[in-house]
Amino acid sequence: MAAKATVDGGPGGGGGGAAWPAPASAHRDLHVILDAVPIPIFFKDAAGVYRGCNRAFEEYIGRPRSEIVGRTVHELAPSDLAEVYHAADLALLREHGVQTYESQVRYADGSRRDVLFNKATFPGPAGEVAGLVGTILDVTDRKAAEARLQHQAFHDALTGLPNRALFMDRLGLALAAARRGPARVALVYLDLDRFKMVNDTLGHHAGDRLLQEVGRRLAAAVRDSDTMARMGGDEFCAIVPDVVDGAEAAAVAHRLAAALRPVVELQGHDLHVTASVGVALHPTDGEDPHTLLRCADAAMYQAKESGPNAVRLFSPGQRDDRRLDFESKLHGAVERGELTLHYQPQTHLATSRLVGFEALLRWNHPTLGQVMPDRIIPVAEESGLVLPIGAWVLREACRQAAAWQRGGRNLRVAVNVSARQLERGDFPDLVRETLRETGLEPALLEVELTESVAMREESIARMASLRDTGVRIAIDDFGTGYSSLSCLRRMPVEALKIDRSFVREVEDGSPLLEPIIRLAHGLGLRVVAEGVETHRQLRRLHELGCDLAQGYALGGPMPASLVEARLAAGP
Ligand code: C2E
Ligand code: MG
Ligand code: MG
Repeated sequence: MAAKATVDGGPGGGGGGAAWPAPASAHRDLHVILDAVPIPIFFKDAAGVYRGCNRAFEEYIGRPRSEIVGRTVHELAPSDLAEVYHAADLALLREHGVQTYESQVRYADGSRRDVLFNKATFPGPAGEVAGLVGTILDVTDRKAAEARLQHQAFHDALTGLPNRALFMDRLGLALAAARRGPARVALVYLDLDRFKMVNDTLGHHAGDRLLQEVGRRLAAAVRDSDTMARMGGDEFCAIVPDVVDGAEAAAVAHRLAAALRPVVELQGHDLHVTASVGVALHPTDGEDPHTLLRCADAAMYQAKESGPNAVRLFSPGQRDDRRLDFESKLHGAVERGELTLHYQPQTHLATSRLVGFEALLRWNHPTLGQVMPDRIIPVAEESGLVLPIGAWVLREACRQAAAWQRGGRNLRVAVNVSARQLERGDFPDLVRETLRETGLEPALLEVELTESVAMREESIARMASLRDTGVRIAIDDFGTGYSSLSCLRRMPVEALKIDRSFVREVEDGSPLLEPIIRLAHGLGLRVVAEGVETHRQLRRLHELGCDLAQGYALGGPMPASLVEARLAAGP
């Protein structure tokens, strides 16, 4: 607060300025002190004429005190700056007060610096505004640090590209600008294919290097007016203002994809980098930044789904349309007789005897071809179609098994039942009615439930009701859910079907299989191994005490006609 002290003490002798009172010795001391302050300090009178300064100010202006005192800023500073300073002085001198502002100045040595002016008025003998005292702080370094922080807050440290925050900001500006004109704004969203593999196999350092290279190439492939940002992970997004239509946006997308094409050499490996690219257009696909970004992201996912290195324009409802189309086709499938069952044999391991079949759904559609249950069941469950379809499967399987039974063969048939079917309180009634209608002996029907379905409280009563009818219940895909063997104790269950993921490991001495089989036997459960593909697996499962096996090693799912032929041919 040297300047303040000067003011209070009445500024003494601005370096020999004639109009200023001659310094008393206390004032001379003050003058020595001010000269020691490395911050430029100056005084002006109420007319804006320099009345004194310290040594740092002489250096700042590049002139001796004698050439400063008695002059105005117009005589010392470049005219444009002088205007600004003079106007600021006048504003301050109009009444007592302080004033602070930043300015960029050129020093006497030619360097450009950012400075902070602090100015305050001081009173004359009658309390009037006698003049002002000012200090000039060099804030160049602080400004640079601020700019660095600002940059860090809005840029990605790894690639130096704008980050998501800056991206959203620029997108907001681009959309606001676009609303006033005919041009469209395109978002091009890129997600590298198989980036995780690079990270996992070559390490994070290599992954980082790859992202830097990708960032460099993408940034170089867009125009200066475009923004290329790293959105996080291996995702990049470009804002492309003023495109004409989707075709032009797609062209940009292809150009970006092409920029990635040259081989990247990393730790002696030649990497072929590709990306899945999604494009969204403002205003067609979205009016605001968030919607538009979601659309670009969704388009990118569509691209991902169609394999690596694909470019997709966002098309609203494309997925919904496909889904609805599939669902409406499935709707009439039962009536049109397009559903069939395939039967996969289950064999007793100790005796190699065929004990029964699992019924597996197939849908033969004129244009879709043969559709597998993994595609059918999720749609059927969500749409509720699983009820009529499930009822059909049950009846058809029972009808077939009853036919075999009448032919003198007691072969069990296993039917998969999904959660929504069992949810219905009348499911046990449906089963009983179907058994009565088809004439199948209840013990020849097995119902397969997954762990999660069987574990529900309300399922247990229905399972008990089924068992009382004489129907058997098996837990399907055992080991993939969360049930524990102790839960099984409470369940009216006869068999466990061990999921093929366990069976696959049986040759490597899967440590879980043996205790599962032992515990299941302890609970009086039959154990069926699913997805047995090799004879070695068969042997090993037999050694471990597994009861039944099902899988390609013993026969895949086949149409009933083929089953008949096999049965006729004998063992
Ligand atoms: P799941 O009940 O676990 O049926 C076994 C699946 O494994 C069948 O696939 C079968 O073809 C396949 N599989 C059989 N042996 C092998 C093998 O050795 N190796 C391998 N890798 N796979 C083998 P699918 O027919 O595609 O059925 C898939 C799933 O769809 C079934 O799994 C079942 O959960 C469900 N599903 C099938 N039919 C129906 C149905 O009528 N209703 C309901 N709700 N779900 C069904
Ligand atoms: Mg099954
Ligand atoms: Mg299964």
